Amino acid sequence: MLNKLISNILPYMPEKLVWQFSKDYIAGETIEDAVNAALKLNEQGILTTIDVLGEFIKNLDEAEANKNEYLEVIEVAEKAKVNGNYSLKPTFFGLLIDKEVAYQHIREIVAKAASYNNFVRIDMEDTPCTDMEIELFRRLKEEFPANVGLVLQSYLKRTHQDIKNFKDIHSEEVPINFRLCKGIYVEPASLAYKKYDEINTHFLEDIELMLKEKMYPAIATHDKPVIDGAYKLLEKYNYPKENYEFQMLYGVTPALRQSIVDAGHRLRVYVPFGKHWFGYCTRRVKENPAMASVILKAIFFK
Ligand code: FAD
Repeated sequence: MLNKLISNILPYMPEKLVWQFSKDYIAGETIEDAVNAALKLNEQGILTTIDVLGEFIKNLDEAEANKNEYLEVIEVAEKAKVNGNYSLKPTFFGLLIDKEVAYQHIREIVAKAASYNNFVRIDMEDTPCTDMEIELFRRLKEEFPANVGLVLQSYLKRTHQDIKNFKDIHSEEVPINFRLCKGIYVEPASLAYKKYDEINTHFLEDIELMLKEKMYPAIATHDKPVIDGAYKLLEKYNYPKENYEFQMLYGVTPALRQSIVDAGHRLRVYVPFGKHWFGYCTRRVKENPAMASVILKAIFFK
């Protein structure tokens, strides 16, 4: 109830107040902010994936501008020798307006990253985008087998089968690279598991399938029981350390993050930045009012 109320009033709160809770979770507004945050994480032995905040644009001029911003991010981050890759949301490039235009923009970004022998992750958005984002990834993977990966969401009932369907483009030489997360959007119960335990069980089943198939899983969670479950699976399959990684969001559960690094696992942090941080944060909370408790704590209990 309180969460719902906060999620409704948040867009009308002063930006300065919202920044108080957002600043721990966002690297800043500029490319330099993102690169500096990434370099600091690198100093702690942590890899990064830089993401320009924004999604669901209104016209294709914005898509073009967003592509140019990503190309600049890659140029600046590579020159600064950041040890990390890039993540993007296809709707930021007009996926829901003209999917061919979006594909061409994203292709250019992946080509740029590939020219530095680097990698771009296609984030997964809500279910109206799932099939289109899988199709986009398949097309890119054909041209850039080692430079592109996809996100899958364990709350979706389709995900386990989706992983099996990808066997046709997976090989041990160039393993398919999936980030598995729980999923952040509010989806209908016909498409998504809703209960915490159910989502966690499927998370670990999906990871186990990826390990059996010798894929490269990026295990993206801050949930200790899921991380412990993943540790057990990695041990069971005696999985080589260079064939998987853990991932977390910028600023979230830093102590747990450090424990993963200390245990010798590869860990990557998602570093979001950009001038659209206010819209991004307020939309996230509107979509998922449960996040309002995190915000409440951040504003009042710091
Ligand atoms: P939860 O059960 O939600 O959280 C476990 C605990 O972690 C909580 O109790 C809390 O202590 C802490 N926690 C979790 N989130 C936060 C937070 N934001 N602030 C403070 N504490 C927090 N979702 C998508 O749908 N598509 C994507 O492409 C996508 N990419 C992601 C990339 C990365 C690297 C990560 C880590 C997550 C991504 N997500 C994405 C979000 C993901 O789906 C979950 O919504 C989010 O990670 C929270 O789930 P959890 O696994 O941490 O478990």
